[in-house]
Amino acid sequence: MLKQKEKIELKGMTLQQMKDYFSSIGEKPFRGEQVFNWLFNHLEFEYDNMLNLPKELRERLKTSTSLISLDLFDYQDSPSTKTKKYLFRTYDDKVIESVVIPEKERNTLCISTQVGCPLDCKFCATGLMGYKRNLSAGEIVDQYLLAAKEYGKKFITNIVYMGMGEPLLNFKNTLDSIKIFTNELNTGLSRNRITISTAGIPPKIKELADNDIRIKLALSLHSCFDDIRNKIMPINIKYPLKENFDALRYYAKKTKTRITFEYTMLKEINDRSEDIKALTHLCKQIPSKLNLIPFNSIKHMDPDGFSGQLEPTAANLIEEFANQLRDNGITVFVRNTQGDDIAAACGQLAIKAS
Ligand code: SF4
Repeated sequence: MLKQKEKIELKGMTLQQMKDYFSSIGEKPFRGEQVFNWLFNHLEFEYDNMLNLPKELRERLKTSTSLISLDLFDYQDSPSTKTKKYLFRTYDDKVIESVVIPEKERNTLCISTQVGCPLDCKFCATGLMGYKRNLSAGEIVDQYLLAAKEYGKKFITNIVYMGMGEPLLNFKNTLDSIKIFTNELNTGLSRNRITISTAGIPPKIKELADNDIRIKLALSLHSCFDDIRNKIMPINIKYPLKENFDALRYYAKKTKTRITFEYTMLKEINDRSEDIKALTHLCKQIPSKLNLIPFNSIKHMDPDGFSGQLEPTAANLIEEFANQLRDNGITVFVRNTQGDDIAAACGQLAIKAS
């Protein structure tokens, strides 16, 4: 069982933090570069195999630092797709999930940033389990490292922060993990293949833009009307659509990227003709594209609450909805529901054991 929190977690350090750490223990900063290279390019997590470090330093590192942030204890394969869900245990016995989604031209890893989530979106199983704690930068990064170790460094081409939790509510650790993934010494991942998905925290969207990170940003939109979105995503009461759209415009301008709007299709709630009109207006105001997502059933939803009323829009109606938007000049994609059979699709990540 992993219990390493009393030791310093090296996997969560940016390159600069790692160099500073080695300076602080009286070593040359380039030792930080060497360890960073072992971790992220060679996927080597044993000091004994880091042969360009002096033996005495390796022994010192073993006693004061840890290269184990998560314990990969189980996984589930989808029989119908090649989607694979990973289950990780943390040092304090919490359980989190990541999902690898292989596709024709890319392989995406969907990672978590919190144990549970405080935002309670009504279509989402993670929201129903409540919030336990933020993940450390090392725990965020280790989801990638352990999956990459299994598949090989080149296999995972894309990372989406779309697993358990709201990444912008764990801002510093999320930002550190992005700095690690996009560091030029970490070959193989590029910033335009990393996407953060947020429920909409405008001050943090602006802060992210000001950090010169320039990764892609997705907003879980699901309705262009505040009264409906308030019911689907209670965070909208605190941060209504206008504030989010202003922040997204700022992000798009500052980073020169297009925003992705994620839109889960809910029967008679957001699939009406007025929704097409509002989406068309929105997508013409902000450089963007729109992903339509079929709604996945969540077995343990509250049958008496609003979530119990949610039903999926039929597949043929989703296509019709998409075509009408395309006719209006909007870039629209209809997403496959990969991993539905192992509860690894959007909104289905939740672990009762946590
Ligand atoms: S959709 Fe995302 S932000 Fe909303 S409850 Fe689920 S994990 Fe949290």
